[in-house]
Amino acid sequence: MSVSSNPVLVVHGGAWAMPDDVIDAHIHGVRNALTTGWRVLERGGSALDAVEEAVVIMEDDETFDAGRGSFLNRDGKVQLDALIMEGATLRAGGVGCVERILNPVRAARKILSESPHVYFVAEGAERFAAEHGVKLCENKDLVIPREVERLREYQSRVKEGKEPSGNDLFAPEISHDTVGAVALDRDGNIAAATSTGGTLDKAPGRLGDSSLIGCGCYADNQSAAASTTGWGEPIMKLVLAKWAADRVASGSLPEWVAQEAINYLKDRVNGHGGMILLDSRGRYGIAHNTPRMAWAVRTIQEEQSGVTRNE
Ligand code: ASP
Repeated sequence: MSVSSNPVLVVHGGAWAMPDDVIDAHIHGVRNALTTGWRVLERGGSALDAVEEAVVIMEDDETFDAGRGSFLNRDGKVQLDALIMEGATLRAGGVGCVERILNPVRAARKILSESPHVYFVAEGAERFAAEHGVKLCENKDLVIPREVERLREYQSRVKEGKEPSGNDLFAPEISHDTVGAVALDRDGNIAAATSTGGTLDKAPGRLGDSSLIGCGCYADNQSAAASTTGWGEPIMKLVLAKWAADRVASGSLPEWVAQEAINYLKDRVNGHGGMILLDSRGRYGIAHNTPRMAWAVRTIQEEQSGVTRNE
């Protein structure tokens, strides 16, 4: 049976209390990602290629906490996580704690396409990537002065006892600039990808929700494709992307489910963040409980982008 669907692409570029002076850069970044991903879908390319290409654009954009320009961990290093998943086959590829890859979503895609495994971490992931044609870089190539300064300031405030700890460390004012994309292609297949540098000053080896299947990213043609951003630990506890996809499979509209998922995140574990959600009929939802979220959407009928407010 041949299916012909109208393509849809939704991308996000983080959810937090973005100050006014970074809004334009976020809108610019998500629009660029949308344009690139849409080009793939427009010429009949797969949802999987579209989400990969869209995420690469945001990894390359220093505005976001993904790829070069990501937050630094406690040791002053960039440590990246990414996942990509295909809804038709449930094939997935993930990398965690990689330090020498400019575009972790490319490495994740290689795992999805060329490995019997689903997930690689640290040096093993880098070795796999290099063996499959992904060029490695030095960690310092991923570090930018803005982030060195951000970490230095943060750590000195902690030393002075001025920085909040525990849950407050993850207050919405702390930036969550993880990036993600969900897409539907002409063949009726959906896919999702998420990429992040994780949280500021994280302990080396800490892995967040973004690259974990069903937590920060999920795709199944029989339910939905989802990508999340926000405070990773609560999202992981609820396996939130899969939770949302299952609700879509039971008949609820992605638009409502995205909001329900974010409400559940708040009510059940006092978490915060944002989600994009898309089903294989092209219905989508975008929701967040942080003060702001950057996103962009393109369908045959419409193109929209913005930073929505929840203030
Ligand atoms: N969810 C990511 C993490 O916890 C962070 C983010 O979305 O900005 O690693």
